[in-house]
Amino acid sequence: MFIPKRIIFEKDSLEYDAAKEILDRFGGNNNIEIVKLTSNKMKQYIPGSDLSSQYREGKKTLVVGVKRGLVFQTCKPSAHYQLPLISGCMGQCEYCYLNTMLGDKPFVKAYVNTDDIFNQAEKYINERLPEKTVFEGSATSDPVPVEPYTHSLQKAITFFGKSEKGKFRFVTKYNDVDSLLKLNHNGHTEIRFSINTPYVIDKYEHYTASVDKRTEASIKVSEAGYPTGYLIAPVFIYNNWREDYHVLLQDLSNKLKEGPKAPVSFEIISHRYTTTAKNRILKVFPESTLPMNDENRKYKYGQFGYGKYVYPKEALDEINEFFDKEIKELFIDSEIKYII
Ligand code: SF4
Repeated sequence: MFIPKRIIFEKDSLEYDAAKEILDRFGGNNNIEIVKLTSNKMKQYIPGSDLSSQYREGKKTLVVGVKRGLVFQTCKPSAHYQLPLISGCMGQCEYCYLNTMLGDKPFVKAYVNTDDIFNQAEKYINERLPEKTVFEGSATSDPVPVEPYTHSLQKAITFFGKSEKGKFRFVTKYNDVDSLLKLNHNGHTEIRFSINTPYVIDKYEHYTASVDKRTEASIKVSEAGYPTGYLIAPVFIYNNWREDYHVLLQDLSNKLKEGPKAPVSFEIISHRYTTTAKNRILKVFPESTLPMNDENRKYKYGQFGYGKYVYPKEALDEINEFFDKEIKELFIDSEIKYII
């Protein structure tokens, strides 16, 4: 669970019960600075003289706000729309796409006018009838570590549980799922867990839950009947990568055999980076050992004019072959959505 160092309540947010609950919960804690804004000038309350210190202080900050413009971003290919409940994440994964996406606003932000957000989601669902509409809850965040006090996922899962044509999905590297286990989800919410080898987690995924905690949480949600998936991303090639990923999958397979027999799905994404991301990462993590030597990669042109550095074809083929074989052997009946 994310315990912030400071909580900033934006103007008008405390008119909402969800914001009052957060204030009640943390207001008496002397270790947490509480700021109640009367204007929208928030940045002065987050210290830091350079990008690296602003990043670290931002990551310890929770901003509670009201979502104003209710135009949802599209979210292809994983969903039709983003569901803007939370943005940002307490984690400090060196490779995280939020490093470039959220720029100098790495703080966690929780929107408290959830009724407005769900009313808007309903409008989008109605526009696409009779088709189903899928909403992604983690396009710009990991919403799970703030769930124990925002209850955003709980409200979303309950909303989509009652919806005929609306579906919800999110992915996490955390394990605060207990409050989600008894909800009437009706199978309309898919929960995916991003897992990796302990080597990768220790080296690059700072302030996230251990792989054991993530898999334990995944088994709980699967037992609670949620469609459950695993995202293994990013896959890195390093000494012993095959052995480590084998142990990861073998261990997961053993645990799933003891638990529910529900089908599971896998998505496998090899490590890639853009030049913009690399420059940003090296400013925030100057000592990073992320493998980002352009000469060892292949430049792949993207749809929108900028490309990514991916592993060369032979390495991608090895990754593909390895995961395809392992998953088919260890998880009979599972679905491999893609290996890229
Ligand atoms: S847990 Fe996910 S969203 Fe959070 S920093 Fe890591 S990769 Fe980014």
